[in-house]
Amino acid sequence: MASRVDLYGRRYGYSSHNKKNKNKINKRKIKKRKKKYKIKNNIKIFIIIITIIIIIIIAIIMIKSKNNNKIENKDKNEVINNKQDDKLKQLNYINKKIDYFDYSKIDRYIDYMNNNIDLNLYDVIKEVNMDLDNEYYENSNEVQDTDSLLILVNKYNYLSKDYEPSDLENISSNYALPDMKLRKEAKESFEELSKKALKDNLKIIAMSSYRSYQYQVDLYNMYKNKDGVDIADRYSGRAGFSEHQTGLAVDVYNDKLSYTNFEDTKEFEWMQKNAYKYGFILRFPKDKEKYTGYIYESWHYRYVGKNVAKEIKESGYCLEEYIATRSK
Ligand SMILES: [Zn+2]
Repeated sequence: MASRVDLYGRRYGYSSHNKKNKNKINKRKIKKRKKKYKIKNNIKIFIIIITIIIIIIIAIIMIKSKNNNKIENKDKNEVINNKQDDKLKQLNYINKKIDYFDYSKIDRYIDYMNNNIDLNLYDVIKEVNMDLDNEYYENSNEVQDTDSLLILVNKYNYLSKDYEPSDLENISSNYALPDMKLRKEAKESFEELSKKALKDNLKIIAMSSYRSYQYQVDLYNMYKNKDGVDIADRYSGRAGFSEHQTGLAVDVYNDKLSYTNFEDTKEFEWMQKNAYKYGFILRFPKDKEKYTGYIYESWHYRYVGKNVAKEIKESGYCLEEYIATRSK
Protein backbone atom coordinates (compact mmCIF):
# COMPACT_ATOMS: atom_id res chain seq x y z
CA MET A 1 0.00 0.00 0.00
CA ALA A 2 1.46 3.37 -0.96
CA SER A 3 -1.37 5.49 0.38
CA ARG A 4 -0.34 8.53 2.33
CA VAL A 5 -2.07 11.26 4.30
CA ASP A 6 -1.26 14.89 3.66
CA LEU A 7 -1.22 17.74 6.16
CA TYR A 8 -4.96 18.10 6.00
CA GLY A 9 -5.65 14.50 6.54
CA ARG A 10 -6.50 13.79 2.88
CA ARG A 11 -5.30 10.63 1.44
CA TYR A 12 -3.24 10.86 -1.60
CA GLY A 13 -1.28 8.49 -3.72
CA TYR A 14 -3.01 5.46 -5.18
CA SER A 15 -3.27 1.89 -4.54
CA SER A 16 -2.40 -0.65 -7.21
CA HIS A 17 -6.06 -1.65 -7.14
CA ASN A 18 -7.15 1.89 -7.99
CA LYS A 19 -4.57 2.12 -10.69
CA LYS A 20 -5.88 -1.01 -12.35
CA ASN A 21 -9.44 0.32 -12.18
CA LYS A 22 -8.47 3.62 -13.62
CA ASN A 23 -6.63 1.94 -16.47
CA LYS A 24 -9.68 -0.15 -17.18
CA ILE A 25 -11.89 2.93 -17.18
CA ASN A 26 -9.48 4.76 -19.46
CA LYS A 27 -9.32 1.84 -21.83
CA ARG A 28 -13.12 1.70 -21.91
CA LYS A 29 -13.30 5.40 -22.54
CA ILE A 30 -10.78 5.13 -25.37
CA LYS A 31 -12.68 2.17 -26.76
CA LYS A 32 -15.92 4.13 -26.56
CA ARG A 33 -14.31 7.13 -28.21
CA LYS A 34 -12.83 4.92 -30.90
CA LYS A 35 -16.25 3.36 -31.43
CA LYS A 36 -17.90 6.77 -31.63
CA TYR A 37 -15.21 7.95 -34.01
CA LYS A 38 -15.64 4.85 -36.15
CA ILE A 39 -19.42 5.31 -36.27
CA LYS A 40 -19.02 8.99 -37.15
CA ASN A 41 -16.53 8.09 -39.87
CA ASN A 42 -18.80 5.38 -41.22
CA ILE A 43 -21.71 7.82 -41.35
CA LYS A 44 -19.55 10.30 -43.24
CA ILE A 45 -18.42 7.66 -45.74
CA PHE A 46 -22.01 6.48 -46.07
CA ILE A 47 -23.23 10.02 -46.81
CA ILE A 48 -20.45 10.54 -49.35
CA ILE A 49 -21.26 7.25 -51.09
CA ILE A 50 -25.00 8.03 -51.15
CA THR A 51 -24.27 11.52 -52.54
CA ILE A 52 -22.05 10.05 -55.26
CA ILE A 53 -24.72 7.48 -56.12
CA ILE A 54 -27.40 10.20 -56.30
CA ILE A 55 -25.17 12.33 -58.55
CA ILE A 56 -24.50 9.35 -60.81
CA ILE A 57 -28.23 8.52 -60.99
CA ILE A 58 -29.10 12.14 -61.84
CA ALA A 59 -26.38 12.22 -64.48
CA ILE A 60 -27.63 8.99 -66.02
CA ILE A 61 -31.22 10.30 -66.06
CA MET A 62 -30.10 13.55 -67.70
CA ILE A 63 -28.04 11.80 -70.37
CA LYS A 64 -30.92 9.42 -71.09
CA SER A 65 -33.47 12.23 -71.42
CA LYS A 66 -31.09 14.14 -73.68
CA ASN A 67 -30.67 11.09 -75.87
CA ASN A 68 -34.42 10.63 -75.91
CA ASN A 69 -34.84 14.24 -77.03
CA LYS A 70 -32.26 13.70 -79.72
CA ILE A 71 -34.07 10.62 -80.93
CA GLU A 72 -37.40 12.48 -80.81
CA ASN A 73 -35.93 15.40 -82.77
CA LYS A 74 -34.39 12.98 -85.22
CA ASP A 75 -37.79 11.36 -85.70
CA LYS A 76 -39.42 14.75 -86.11
CA ASN A 77 -36.80 15.80 -88.66
CA GLU A 78 -37.28 12.55 -90.50
CA VAL A 79 -41.03 13.19 -90.68
CA ILE A 80 -40.40 16.75 -91.92
CA ASN A 81 -37.84 15.52 -94.43
CA ASN A 82 -40.23 12.84 -95.65
CA LYS A 83 -42.99 15.43 -96.02
CA GLN A 84 -40.61 17.80 -97.82
CA ASP A 85 -39.45 15.02 -100.10
CA ASP A 86 -43.07 14.21 -100.86
CA LYS A 87 -43.65 17.82 -101.88
CA LEU A 88 -40.48 17.99 -103.96
CA LYS A 89 -41.58 14.80 -105.69
CA GLN A 90 -44.89 16.48 -106.58
CA LEU A 91 -42.82 19.30 -108.08
CA ASN A 92 -40.84 16.74 -110.06
CA TYR A 93 -37.65 17.68 -108.14
CA ILE A 94 -37.38 20.88 -110.14
CA ASN A 95 -35.34 22.28 -107.22
CA LYS A 96 -32.39 20.30 -108.59
CA LYS A 97 -32.63 21.98 -111.98
CA ILE A 98 -32.87 25.64 -111.00
CA ASP A 99 -31.10 27.86 -108.51
CA TYR A 100 -34.05 30.18 -107.85
CA PHE A 101 -36.15 27.58 -106.06
CA ASP A 102 -37.21 29.06 -102.72
CA TYR A 103 -37.88 26.28 -100.19
CA SER A 104 -39.93 28.61 -98.00
CA LYS A 105 -42.48 28.86 -100.85
CA ILE A 106 -42.84 25.13 -101.45
CA ASP A 107 -46.55 24.97 -100.43
CA ARG A 108 -47.35 28.01 -102.56
CA TYR A 109 -45.61 26.38 -105.55
CA ILE A 110 -47.78 23.28 -105.17
CA ASP A 111 -51.01 25.28 -104.81
CA TYR A 112 -50.14 27.44 -107.80
CA MET A 113 -49.23 24.40 -109.88
CA ASN A 114 -52.57 22.78 -109.03
CA ASN A 115 -54.47 25.97 -109.85
CA ASN A 116 -52.63 26.46 -113.17
CA ILE A 117 -52.34 23.00 -114.67
CA ASP A 118 -51.38 24.32 -118.12
CA LEU A 119 -48.33 26.12 -116.77
CA ASN A 120 -44.93 24.42 -116.99
CA LEU A 121 -43.04 23.99 -113.73
CA TYR A 122 -40.41 26.59 -114.54
CA ASP A 123 -43.11 29.22 -114.93
CA VAL A 124 -44.85 28.01 -111.76
CA ILE A 125 -41.68 28.70 -109.73
CA LYS A 126 -40.97 31.98 -111.53
CA GLU A 127 -44.50 33.31 -111.11
CA VAL A 128 -44.80 32.41 -107.42
CA ASN A 129 -41.42 34.07 -106.85
CA MET A 130 -43.08 37.16 -108.35
CA ASP A 131 -46.04 36.75 -105.92
CA LEU A 132 -48.46 36.20 -108.80
CA ASP A 133 -50.39 33.81 -106.56
CA ASN A 134 -51.45 36.85 -104.49
CA GLU A 135 -54.01 39.46 -105.44
CA TYR A 136 -52.70 42.92 -106.36
CA TYR A 137 -52.21 45.16 -103.33
CA GLU A 138 -52.90 42.24 -100.95
CA ASN A 139 -50.11 40.75 -98.81
CA SER A 140 -47.89 43.42 -100.33
CA ASN A 141 -44.43 44.04 -98.93
CA GLU A 142 -42.85 47.32 -98.00
CA VAL A 143 -39.57 47.68 -99.92
CA GLN A 144 -36.64 47.67 -97.48
CA ASP A 145 -33.55 47.86 -99.68
CA THR A 146 -34.30 51.29 -101.08
CA ASP A 147 -30.67 52.04 -102.01
CA SER A 148 -30.45 49.13 -104.44
CA LEU A 149 -30.61 49.93 -108.15
CA LEU A 150 -32.60 46.71 -108.46
CA ILE A 151 -35.37 48.04 -106.22
CA LEU A 152 -38.67 46.52 -107.28
CA VAL A 153 -41.79 48.61 -106.86
CA ASN A 154 -44.98 47.20 -108.34
CA LYS A 155 -48.44 46.05 -107.24
CA TYR A 156 -46.90 43.67 -104.69
CA ASN A 157 -44.10 45.89 -103.39
CA TYR A 158 -44.52 49.44 -102.18
CA LEU A 159 -42.50 52.31 -100.79
CA SER A 160 -43.32 53.98 -97.51
CA LYS A 161 -45.09 57.32 -97.87
CA ASP A 162 -42.08 58.95 -96.21
CA TYR A 163 -39.55 57.58 -98.68
CA GLU A 164 -37.74 60.10 -100.79
CA PRO A 165 -34.36 59.31 -102.40
CA SER A 166 -31.55 61.27 -100.73
CA ASP A 167 -29.59 61.94 -103.93
CA LEU A 168 -32.20 63.47 -106.26
CA GLU A 169 -30.83 65.90 -108.84
CA ASN A 170 -32.41 68.02 -111.55
CA ILE A 171 -31.99 66.76 -115.11
CA SER A 172 -30.40 69.36 -117.39
CA SER A 173 -33.05 71.47 -119.13
CA ASN A 174 -31.45 70.43 -122.44
CA TYR A 175 -32.97 67.00 -121.96
CA ALA A 176 -36.00 67.54 -119.74
CA LEU A 177 -39.03 69.64 -118.99
CA PRO A 178 -38.49 72.01 -116.04
CA ASP A 179 -37.90 70.58 -112.58
CA MET A 180 -37.43 66.91 -113.57
CA LYS A 181 -35.46 64.99 -110.95
CA LEU A 182 -33.79 61.58 -110.87
CA ARG A 183 -31.33 59.94 -108.51
CA LYS A 184 -27.79 61.13 -109.23
CA GLU A 185 -26.54 58.02 -111.09
CA ALA A 186 -29.72 57.69 -113.16
CA LYS A 187 -29.74 61.40 -113.91
CA GLU A 188 -26.14 61.37 -115.17
CA SER A 189 -26.79 58.32 -117.35
CA PHE A 190 -29.99 59.81 -118.72
CA GLU A 191 -28.16 62.98 -119.70
CA GLU A 192 -25.49 60.93 -121.49
CA LEU A 193 -28.20 58.98 -123.30
CA SER A 194 -30.05 62.10 -124.42
CA LYS A 195 -26.81 63.79 -125.41
CA LYS A 196 -25.87 60.86 -127.65
CA ALA A 197 -29.39 60.77 -129.17
CA LEU A 198 -29.12 64.48 -129.88
CA LYS A 199 -25.90 63.84 -131.79
CA ASP A 200 -27.98 61.47 -133.92
CA ASN A 201 -30.50 64.32 -134.37
CA LEU A 202 -33.05 62.75 -132.07
CA LYS A 203 -34.70 64.31 -129.05
CA ILE A 204 -35.37 62.21 -126.00
CA ILE A 205 -36.88 64.49 -123.40
CA ALA A 206 -37.84 63.60 -119.86
CA MET A 207 -41.44 64.70 -119.28
CA SER A 208 -42.04 62.93 -115.96
CA SER A 209 -39.48 61.48 -113.57
CA TYR A 210 -39.34 61.43 -109.76
CA ARG A 211 -42.79 61.79 -108.25
CA SER A 212 -43.37 62.11 -104.53
CA TYR A 213 -45.90 60.00 -102.64
CA GLN A 214 -48.27 62.94 -102.32
CA TYR A 215 -47.97 63.82 -106.01
CA GLN A 216 -48.91 60.23 -106.84
CA VAL A 217 -51.90 60.38 -104.47
CA ASP A 218 -53.27 63.34 -106.43
CA LEU A 219 -52.39 61.86 -109.84
CA TYR A 220 -53.94 58.47 -109.14
CA ASN A 221 -57.09 60.05 -107.72
CA MET A 222 -57.44 62.18 -110.84
CA TYR A 223 -57.15 59.09 -113.09
CA LYS A 224 -59.48 57.10 -110.84
CA ASN A 225 -62.14 59.81 -111.00
CA LYS A 226 -61.76 59.98 -114.78
CA ASP A 227 -61.64 56.26 -115.69
CA GLY A 228 -62.62 54.29 -112.58
CA VAL A 229 -60.40 52.09 -110.41
CA ASP A 230 -60.06 49.11 -112.78
CA ILE A 231 -58.84 51.10 -115.76
CA ALA A 232 -56.75 53.55 -113.75
CA ASP A 233 -54.98 50.61 -112.07
CA ARG A 234 -53.78 49.34 -115.45
CA TYR A 235 -51.85 52.47 -116.31
CA SER A 236 -51.27 54.35 -113.07
CA GLY A 237 -49.66 53.28 -109.83
CA ARG A 238 -51.41 53.80 -106.54
CA ALA A 239 -49.44 56.01 -104.18
CA GLY A 240 -46.52 54.05 -102.76
CA PHE A 241 -46.81 51.49 -105.54
CA SER A 242 -45.51 53.78 -108.29
CA GLU A 243 -42.02 53.24 -109.61
CA HIS A 244 -41.71 56.98 -110.13
CA GLN A 245 -41.22 57.37 -106.37
CA THR A 246 -37.89 55.49 -106.67
CA GLY A 247 -36.26 58.34 -108.60
CA LEU A 248 -35.08 55.74 -111.12
CA ALA A 249 -37.98 55.89 -113.60
CA VAL A 250 -38.51 58.36 -116.40
CA ASP A 251 -41.22 58.95 -119.00
CA VAL A 252 -39.94 60.41 -122.27
CA TYR A 253 -41.26 61.96 -125.47
CA ASN A 254 -39.63 63.43 -128.57
CA ASP A 255 -40.68 67.05 -128.07
CA LYS A 256 -43.24 66.80 -130.90
CA LEU A 257 -45.74 63.98 -130.44
CA SER A 258 -47.54 63.12 -127.22
CA TYR A 259 -45.66 60.56 -125.11
CA THR A 260 -48.47 58.06 -125.78
CA ASN A 261 -47.32 58.03 -129.43
CA PHE A 262 -43.68 57.55 -128.57
CA GLU A 263 -43.79 54.07 -130.09
CA ASP A 264 -44.27 55.63 -133.56
CA THR A 265 -41.11 57.74 -133.39
CA LYS A 266 -37.52 57.27 -134.52
CA GLU A 267 -36.55 58.11 -130.97
CA PHE A 268 -38.34 54.97 -129.79
CA GLU A 269 -36.43 52.90 -132.34
CA TRP A 270 -33.22 54.45 -131.10
CA MET A 271 -34.15 53.66 -127.48
CA GLN A 272 -34.88 50.03 -128.41
CA LYS A 273 -31.34 49.72 -129.71
CA ASN A 274 -29.42 51.87 -127.27
CA ALA A 275 -31.17 52.46 -123.92
CA TYR A 276 -29.49 49.47 -122.27
CA LYS A 277 -26.04 50.90 -123.01
CA TYR A 278 -26.90 53.68 -120.56
CA GLY A 279 -28.41 51.34 -117.97
CA PHE A 280 -32.08 51.86 -118.91
CA ILE A 281 -34.70 49.22 -119.71
CA LEU A 282 -38.17 49.45 -121.19
CA ARG A 283 -40.04 48.76 -117.98
CA PHE A 284 -43.47 47.67 -119.21
CA PRO A 285 -42.89 45.74 -122.45
CA LYS A 286 -45.52 44.30 -124.74
CA ASP A 287 -47.02 40.99 -123.60
CA LYS A 288 -45.64 41.32 -120.08
CA GLU A 289 -48.71 42.85 -118.47
CA LYS A 290 -49.30 39.60 -116.60
CA TYR A 291 -45.97 40.08 -114.82
CA THR A 292 -45.63 43.84 -114.56
CA GLY A 293 -49.29 44.56 -113.84
CA TYR A 294 -49.21 47.42 -116.38
CA ILE A 295 -50.15 47.77 -120.02
CA TYR A 296 -47.36 48.26 -122.53
CA GLU A 297 -45.77 51.70 -122.11
CA SER A 298 -43.30 52.61 -124.85
CA TRP A 299 -42.37 55.82 -122.98
CA HIS A 300 -41.54 54.55 -119.48
CA TYR A 301 -37.89 53.63 -118.83
CA ARG A 302 -36.22 52.44 -115.69
CA TYR A 303 -32.60 52.80 -114.65
CA VAL A 304 -31.07 49.51 -113.35
CA GLY A 305 -27.37 50.03 -114.16
CA LYS A 306 -25.51 49.03 -117.30
CA ASN A 307 -24.73 45.39 -116.46
CA VAL A 308 -28.26 44.46 -115.41
CA ALA A 309 -29.78 46.39 -118.32
CA LYS A 310 -27.63 44.36 -120.72
CA GLU A 311 -28.60 41.07 -119.07
CA ILE A 312 -32.29 41.98 -119.15
CA LYS A 313 -32.06 43.04 -122.78
CA GLU A 314 -30.38 39.75 -123.74
CA SER A 315 -32.76 37.57 -121.71
CA GLY A 316 -35.95 39.15 -123.04
CA TYR A 317 -37.22 39.22 -119.47
CA CYS A 318 -39.00 42.10 -117.80
CA LEU A 319 -37.65 43.31 -114.44
CA GLU A 320 -40.03 41.09 -112.44
CA GLU A 321 -38.91 37.96 -114.31
CA TYR A 322 -35.26 38.91 -114.01
CA ILE A 323 -35.52 39.29 -110.23
CA ALA A 324 -37.70 36.18 -109.79
CA THR A 325 -35.12 33.97 -111.55
CA ARG A 326 -32.02 35.19 -109.75
CA SER A 327 -30.44 32.53 -107.55
CA LYS A 328 -31.87 32.32 -104.04
ZN1 LIG B 1 -44.03 56.33 -116.08
